[in-house]
Amino acid sequence: MPVALKALDIYKMLPKKNCKECGYPTCLTFAMKLAAGKADADTCPYLDETTKNLLKGATRPPIQLVKLGVGERSVSVGDEIVLFRHEKAFYHPPGIFFSVSDLWDRERIVAAATRVMDEVFPRVGENLRFSGLAIRNESRDPASFGKAVAAVEEEAEFPEVLISDSAEALAAGLAHCGNYHPTIHAATKANHAEFAALAKRFGCPLVVRAGDLTELAGLAKACTDLGVKNLILDPAPANLGEFIARSTAIRGKAIDRSEPDLGHPVYLDATAFTPEEAAIVTGILKYAGVIVTSVLPPGTARMVLTLRQNIYTDPQKPIQMTPGLYRVGEPGPASPVLATVNFSLTYFTLLGYLEASGIPCHLLIMDTEGFSVLTAVAAGKFSERLVKESLDRFQVAGQVKHRSLIIPGYAAPLSGRIEEVTGWKVIVGPRDAADIGEFLEREWVAKGQGQAAP
Ligand code: SF4
Repeated sequence: MPVALKALDIYKMLPKKNCKECGYPTCLTFAMKLAAGKADADTCPYLDETTKNLLKGATRPPIQLVKLGVGERSVSVGDEIVLFRHEKAFYHPPGIFFSVSDLWDRERIVAAATRVMDEVFPRVGENLRFSGLAIRNESRDPASFGKAVAAVEEEAEFPEVLISDSAEALAAGLAHCGNYHPTIHAATKANHAEFAALAKRFGCPLVVRAGDLTELAGLAKACTDLGVKNLILDPAPANLGEFIARSTAIRGKAIDRSEPDLGHPVYLDATAFTPEEAAIVTGILKYAGVIVTSVLPPGTARMVLTLRQNIYTDPQKPIQMTPGLYRVGEPGPASPVLATVNFSLTYFTLLGYLEASGIPCHLLIMDTEGFSVLTAVAAGKFSERLVKESLDRFQVAGQVKHRSLIIPGYAAPLSGRIEEVTGWKVIVGPRDAADIGEFLEREWVAKGQGQAAP
């Protein structure tokens, strides 16, 4: 069984010619890149086939990257490298699919498809959306299944999951959407040869399903041997406890490479559990790469997408805004200038309240490495020097005729030093962004601030 190799182990296997033909300056650099999964063993022409295969097995990502669907709305899942998020990060958020049934009338199916197509939840600079639809063959009739898939196809430009235990029904569905590589659910011990043939013919990802992990690994290997390139594992849990246990074991065995045939993303049908919300949350937290849900009401939908965004944010790198001078509304030379940090959540929260106030202003976003105001002040990232550098760098003085700067309430201890270093008059703003509108009315508009020339 392949195990992860360290750079030094790999280096010992290289010819050590330091010829740079691989594109790296030395064999050691190449070994380090290979160990990190960032180089291809094929690029060194001096390796024999056995060594190449050994290196490829040991340096490929422990969990395969699987692309669901095609085009702009396609989703890539898998390619994760850690068990715990704080060890590095989780990189590929799970695809979340609303499920529809081929027993539904066309109108209901189209309504679900339209929601997935059109619904967008903007949050901290990202547009959050659901991934696609999972179509269930509950009628057990191939013609009805084909009709339901056709109804979705007329509306959809997003990935689909086709759920059936009948190869005939799947073929009827694939006749409408096969070119778009829908995911097929699910190959079992009994039907895997037939399902693998369909997946191979249409280039679709294939979900393999078994409750026993040894059987699941065997099925995955059998389907790989039959030529299916992209696999997803359904551990067939009877309850959420079983899902957590099996999904965690799959992730662990894939990452330590003790069972490479389990190195594929995991599937969860959250609609099989009550409450469904608990299952969705469990899936997001515990390694699911594909989650099938019912058509969620908007409140739950927002909660689910927010949680997925948070879990798949790099914990060592807060979401940051690019530093700069941002315009809120149509500010002029007498408009206020507010300085704050580049932590995205601060920016978007403040922006929302500023827009609601209707007072145009200049918003100076400074590079505090993504820290919030309180943390940035405590860590010395928000300093008088940074304020001076930011005012100069973004040429704020050229945008306004006054020299007044509003700083966040939590940065009040710096106000004297900022005035000293920048020469700007400092006005200490509120601690809570929610009070900014009232503050500007009282301290800026009512007092006629901003009119004075420098
Ligand atoms: Fe070393 Fe092979 Fe790269 Fe040449 S091509 S530098 S021998 S790893």
